Amino acid sequence: NGFAKLGLAPELIAAVADMGFTQPTAVQEKVVPIAMGDQDGAAKSTRFVDLMVSSQTGSGKTAAFLLPVLHTLIKRQAEAEAAARAEFQRLAEEAAARGEAPPKKPKRKDPTNARNFKAATPGALVLCPTRELAQQVAHDAIDLVRHCRGLRIANVVGGMPYQLQIARLQNADLVVATPGRLLDLQRSMQIKLDQVKFLVVDEADRMLDLGFADDLAEINQLTIERQQTMMFSATFAPRIQQLAARVMREPQRVTI
Ligand code: AMP
Repeated sequence: NGFAKLGLAPELIAAVADMGFTQPTAVQEKVVPIAMGDQDGAAKSTRFVDLMVSSQTGSGKTAAFLLPVLHTLIKRQAEAEAAARAEFQRLAEEAAARGEAPPKKPKRKDPTNARNFKAATPGALVLCPTRELAQQVAHDAIDLVRHCRGLRIANVVGGMPYQLQIARLQNADLVVATPGRLLDLQRSMQIKLDQVKFLVVDEADRMLDLGFADDLAEINQLTIERQQTMMFSATFAPRIQQLAARVMREPQRVTI
């Protein structure tokens, strides 16, 4: 499978194989390795660059941004789980040394019970100009995480039953949203954007056509912990470049 050489997590390689993709498309081949970032050996962390990509619908652009974002979420989840296991082990050993019973593992709370409500704090956010596109992207993301245990995708668009969206949203790792509805939920404190590390703006040209410039500016301000921004657009027209200059730092350009 031609995806193996991109360095993606095995869960993702298995998913693309299930979907019948054998070779990455041109945009995937260019974008995925850059978006996955460089390993900074000394700091034991990954350095991410911002990306501005010109691409058309049908080019495979959706997987080009979903794969690297999901790859990083999978890696971070594995690290967090290993850290939690180590901490539990440490507490158990301390308890044993005192001759006490080991600590109890916390019970998972029922997210549909209103008493357990907490605001969603996703680590990644994909913005789409229309409800239809957001649903398609969320659908692709769900296909791509089929081999991942416990990575949750939520779709936030206008017109969906509110309660259902909230329940799915609470534990979401990746949220796919239209800007207006996302900000509605942010203002009513159902979602906090301050944990978002990865932001994707899909079809940026249509975003501007549909009048989302102010919403994008607001989301740009709210995502204070952002480590990477990717913008996809059919063109690099001047107004797209102005938007890019506002939301990204020295973006690397990819033209297909
Ligand atoms: P997009 O440009 O993201 O709208 O993708 C267009 C279509 O191409 C979608 O139906 C994808 O499922 C499909 N696709 C994406 N990547 C690949 C690939 N590497 N091989 C075959 N089909 C793909």
